Amino acid sequence: MVVTTALSPPLPAIERPWAPRLRGTPLLREIAHAVGGGPFHVIHPATFAENLAAVVGALAAEDVPGVVYYGKKANKAAAWLRECTRPATGVDVASVPELVHALGNGVRGEAIGVTGAAKSDGLLWLALRHHCLLAVDAADELERVAAQARGLGVTADVLLRVRPPSAPTSRFGFSPVDLTAALGRCADLGDSVALRGFSFHLDGYDPVARAELAAQLIQLCHQARALGHPASKINVGGGIAVSYVTHEDWHRFQENKDDSWFHSGRNPLRTYPYHQSPAGAAMVTAMLRHDTDGVPLAGRLRDAGIELLLEPGRALLDGAGFSVFPVQGCKDSGDHLVTTVAGLSMSLSEQWKASEFLPDPILVRAGGPQVGDAPVRTAVAGSSCLEYDVLTWRAVRLPARPAAGDLLVYPNTAGYQMDKNESGFHQLPLPPKVVVAGDRWHIDADYAIQEIP
Ligand SMILES: *Cc1c(COP(=O)(O)O)cnc(C)c1O
Repeated sequence: MVVTTALSPPLPAIERPWAPRLRGTPLLREIAHAVGGGPFHVIHPATFAENLAAVVGALAAEDVPGVVYYGKKANKAAAWLRECTRPATGVDVASVPELVHALGNGVRGEAIGVTGAAKSDGLLWLALRHHCLLAVDAADELERVAAQARGLGVTADVLLRVRPPSAPTSRFGFSPVDLTAALGRCADLGDSVALRGFSFHLDGYDPVARAELAAQLIQLCHQARALGHPASKINVGGGIAVSYVTHEDWHRFQENKDDSWFHSGRNPLRTYPYHQSPAGAAMVTAMLRHDTDGVPLAGRLRDAGIELLLEPGRALLDGAGFSVFPVQGCKDSGDHLVTTVAGLSMSLSEQWKASEFLPDPILVRAGGPQVGDAPVRTAVAGSSCLEYDVLTWRAVRLPARPAAGDLLVYPNTAGYQMDKNESGFHQLPLPPKVVVAGDRWHIDADYAIQEIP
């Protein structure tokens, strides 16, 4: 049996000021009370808007025209979509409900990119009706797009998705041979298809790899133009890095990481890189300034008259939400504790890929700090009947033994944590999302048309 014998170094989350401020006011308890206790998520569209403006600003600062599409799958809330109606912004979708959700919140079809492999005929039809930009993934999909566009009497604006040379076994995109064929085919298809450019989406978070592949896509645009195509856009996908913790905290953690820090010895093999540099808008700047054969990418784009499209998901949600779980119980487990919260680890989706969401949870005690409080080490479990329903395997330090009535807050969860994997397991309702703006709050509504901004 593995017993937790060592205290892992802390990994306090980097937060935006609104989050600790809200936790320090009675508002958090009022919200908890109003939604029936919890669990619930708190989201902050103003922070999303700030992140979005920073990425748009990074393009403008390098004098590069472009559009920043929010990669919608990273969080399902409607509240973000309103922010994507500003100039040079849009939404990236991959299903009919995502497309309808964006349209229903005021995002116009021309500002919507549709990605994903082998899109359904229904999705293609709706996207063509609304003049969305389609990232075509394969030759047969191109034929379906062209056939539908002909039937509708419209021209489909398409990008061809390129399979990155660094990922030759990826299931996405055209291989180099198929891409050459598709360029020719687009010419044959006449008015039904306008080839607007090329796209890719890379794993990892490296600005250099993105800049270098973007430079290759500029060459592809030149080739396409030589064949008569109006190719003037390249889409470099998502994967803008996020730093959840500081460099010092992350390196101290990484260098000493040990099985003994984790309940049951469950030390994850791989995790998200919780500190990265450059991150956010600074990573976009690094990409644009990267030297590609003697010319920064930005200069190359300007010279070629090409627009740069981006599809960040996680990075736009950085600092824009946290998740709140009421403490339900706490028991001893060898030399540490196991705290059980109301709620499930599905609300912390990282726990469902043999990994761990590592930023430290924060204990908000019912009556504030009390005399006799002493620090404890605890793992955190969900309130289901699954042994592996665990929100934190790591024995984390809390300032006091958690008790029923306390709240446990997981910071910075808006990007891919809160709602990616949630289900109605045990017939429990999905945790509501509470939208906070200043000292006002409301529950996120799918179509927020009552309140015109
Ligand atoms: C998932 C995805 C994104 C968003 O990725 P992030 O890592 O959240 O920035 C963008 N584009 C495509 C094609 C995707 O599949």
